Amino acid sequence: MEQRDVIVIGAGPSGSIASALLKQRGWDVVVLEGQRFPRFSIGESLLTHCLDFVDEAGMLPAVERAGFQYKNGAAFVRGDEYGDFDFGDKFTPGRNSTFQVQRAAFDKVLADEAQKQGVEIRYETRVNAVDNSGEKPRVRAVDAKGLEYEIEGKFLLDASGFGRVLPKLLDLETPSKFPVRNAVFTHVADGAASDSFDRNKIQIVVHPRYRDVWFWLIPFANGRCSLGCVAAKEFFASYPAPLDERLKKLVSEEPFLTRVLANATWDTPARELSGYAANVKAMHGKGFALLGNAAEFLDPVFSSGVTIAMRSASMAAAVLHRQLSGESVDWTHEFEVPLRKGVDTFRAYVRAWYDGRFQDIMFAKHQPAGIRGMICAILAGYAWDESNPFVAEPERRLDMVAKLCAA
Ligand SMILES: Cc1cc2nc3c(=O)[nH]c(=O)nc-3n(C[C@H](O)[C@H](O)[C@H](O)COP(=O)(O)OP(=O)(O)OC[C@H]3O[C@@H](n4cnc5c(N)ncnc54)[C@H](O)[C@@H]3O)c2cc1C
Repeated sequence: MEQRDVIVIGAGPSGSIASALLKQRGWDVVVLEGQRFPRFSIGESLLTHCLDFVDEAGMLPAVERAGFQYKNGAAFVRGDEYGDFDFGDKFTPGRNSTFQVQRAAFDKVLADEAQKQGVEIRYETRVNAVDNSGEKPRVRAVDAKGLEYEIEGKFLLDASGFGRVLPKLLDLETPSKFPVRNAVFTHVADGAASDSFDRNKIQIVVHPRYRDVWFWLIPFANGRCSLGCVAAKEFFASYPAPLDERLKKLVSEEPFLTRVLANATWDTPARELSGYAANVKAMHGKGFALLGNAAEFLDPVFSSGVTIAMRSASMAAAVLHRQLSGESVDWTHEFEVPLRKGVDTFRAYVRAWYDGRFQDIMFAKHQPAGIRGMICAILAGYAWDESNPFVAEPERRLDMVAKLCAA
């Protein structure tokens, strides 16, 4: 049977970054990817912190050459209220800009870079069974021609995103505490005048009547935008069934988007994702670890998904390198606990978004001095920087500031 050092399931951002970092450290890595690239994926607005991992993997020049839309912050719109954050004002030192990307192109750049560094990627190869009862984990894969075969590795990294291969096969799933929400989304040729909104920022737009219903507008570099609406699953029941009609009706209820998209060409069929929030009982086990969305996904509102995916890849690669080199490692305290710390920071912000506290702060006429930079650092992805009081105790700080702003 084929033997490898590391088997990675999935060539999304977490799979490409982890496999490249392990290859650079001298390990023999094979990536099994179910689809042919380029392929569509959602998750198009990046945070600045994720470029730290792109850089660590030696892929930053390729990403910079690809011509993606420059992004320097996030803007929030609610009726005639507007507030924005510029990453240059953030509390935590680090990068001040990032990109908004069509993921089909972005994920291909990363995967191609991993291949150039010597990682073997087998496209159109799906993993459909896993056995970790023996000394080494073993996967069964099926290729595009339907040929089934097994590979054994010293370690298995599950980077299968919403495929959630190991959580399903090894019974690791546990429900997310967030309610079931849906996202309906498309790409449009926006036709927007250059001064109609700030194309260097993601626009997060609150529905005028329901503060837990919101839209994203993510400009790309080519005159196109990603547009989506997120709400509780049952909310959509009163809207037209065809997804394109549903999205158009929702947009027509919101004045900012109606104005900005007045000349848009709706040329791409809308899609829907439902109940994407997910969690696991454990992020590692005998011979394996889970990366990115294969472990936990919170919510799209703060664009944290790709950053968490890449951070998990970087942390897992470092621990695994030491394990493969013969050191004894502690996956709980060196990987899962510190990774979950930042995920929990984002979780507090997602909760505060939907219960209204974050919006009370964001749209307040007067905000306490100094807090904007601290919140901005989290919106830039630096959710692990414990010198930031809004990371060290996010719930308490959000509560306190929301009350001050409301007063
Ligand atoms: C509505 C919505 C909006 C979002 N917006 C944002 C955003 O603006 N910014 C952001 O950062 N994040 C966003 N996200 C999150 C983002 O999509 C994910 O966090 C990110 O793609 C996770 O990367 P990953 O590498 O873990 O997995 P993925 O990118 O999902 O990659 C997983 C790969 O594994 C492959 N695979 C799956 N099953 C198998 C199998 N059995 N065998 C072999 N291969 C397999 C898949 O084909 C895929 O290529 C959003 C998510 C949702 C639901």
